[in-house]
Amino acid sequence: MDFSSLGLKQQLVTTVNELGYTQPTPIQLEAIPAILNQHDLMAGAQTGTGKTAAFALPIIQLLSEDPLPPKNKAATLAPSTRAVRALVLTPTRELAQQVHKSFVAYANNSRLDCALAYGGASIKAQIDSLKAGVDIIVATPGRLLDLVYKRAIDLSQIQYLVFDEADRMLDMGFIDEINRILKHLPATRQTLLFSATFDEAIFTLSKSLLRKPKLIEVDERNTAATQVEQKVYMVDADRKREITSYLIGSKNWQQVLIFTRTKKDADFLAKEMCKDGIKTQSIHGDKSQGARDRALEEFKQGKTRALVATDVASRGLDIQQLQYVINYQLPYIPEDYIHRIGRTGRAGSSGLAISLMSPDEEWLLEEVEAVLDTRLPQQWLPGYEPDLSKKVTVSRKNSKTAQKRRAKERAFGKKTVAHSKSSSSQKNRR
Ligand code: AMP
Repeated sequence: MDFSSLGLKQQLVTTVNELGYTQPTPIQLEAIPAILNQHDLMAGAQTGTGKTAAFALPIIQLLSEDPLPPKNKAATLAPSTRAVRALVLTPTRELAQQVHKSFVAYANNSRLDCALAYGGASIKAQIDSLKAGVDIIVATPGRLLDLVYKRAIDLSQIQYLVFDEADRMLDMGFIDEINRILKHLPATRQTLLFSATFDEAIFTLSKSLLRKPKLIEVDERNTAATQVEQKVYMVDADRKREITSYLIGSKNWQQVLIFTRTKKDADFLAKEMCKDGIKTQSIHGDKSQGARDRALEEFKQGKTRALVATDVASRGLDIQQLQYVINYQLPYIPEDYIHRIGRTGRAGSSGLAISLMSPDEEWLLEEVEAVLDTRLPQQWLPGYEPDLSKKVTVSRKNSKTAQKRRAKERAFGKKTVAHSKSSSSQKNRR
């Protein structure tokens, strides 16, 4: 099946073919016709499965077919009269940049313009880009509201609203911002909700947002990308840095994304790995947008060999051909594991995800296994066997997270519950 059989016009088919897409991915096969038929959507798909094109292509087509409002480039009207008609909300700046880049590429042969708005960057430049008149905006919730309050954008003509990675938006505590944004949107619109994982909070949100939605699930819920080989090495916490440098160096890996739980650990590890002779940078929420962009670009270009990131950075990163992901620490939120390892094995290519698990993290692995509904066998790397005489067992029963989780499980039922987090731990993770 090719893209034209999904109802896309030849011009868009040519555009995606030029980008090297010959076959639609499963999420594209399901979502594109449904969106073209004006359905609201609740869609679950693994990361890296082509979900951006799944919503961007039909939105571009629908906007292009709609004759109103007239294109200001035709000089018939002043630029400001062109209303923004599609809004894509993303949880992080990196994802916003990525989605915007995709829209620009897909809309290349159309007359549509797409703006980008996220915090941590000059609002003036973003206001200026809006003044020229745009059709689509990709934004993070906080910055979008800033623009609304400054009257730099009018959302009253929005026809298409997309929540990309809605689960992460809720995880990051964006619900108040989302509700405030909704007040500025027309009630009649098409709403598309994309989420890699589903939980009770997502279903609650979907009920208030969507009208008779089509439910699309191309993969089993909460499964990791199938092309990614997953390995778990049990190793003492104080030898993790050593084993990381050893793996990268001895196997000659050239582009490795490493995840830590905190910003402090990310900075520390990057510094230590540089001492080991592996050029490494860190990327997290305390870095300026410029520094994050630079670090990512240098990593993509192969100027740095390893990039250490906190979980927030894990969502928006799309690095072609990224083969290796190392979980330096297992995440406190098991669903984050899926997003982390989803940075590799994208668009059908293979990947390897290695988790370094210290004995006190065994309960975190159990939580990941519960979400994946699969066992991840543990192994020892010769020379890095853990010293089990000093094994510390942190019982799931005793952890606060586990207590909260069990309480929620009792309320909502098992396996539909995502972890809740304290705001301080969230802050530290970004
Ligand atoms: P996404 O899940 O939207 O982040 O997309 C992941 C990657 O897959 C991006 O690099 C896209 O350019 C690429 N991609 C999207 N759709 C296709 C397709 N039909 N064929 C090949 N690559 C694709």
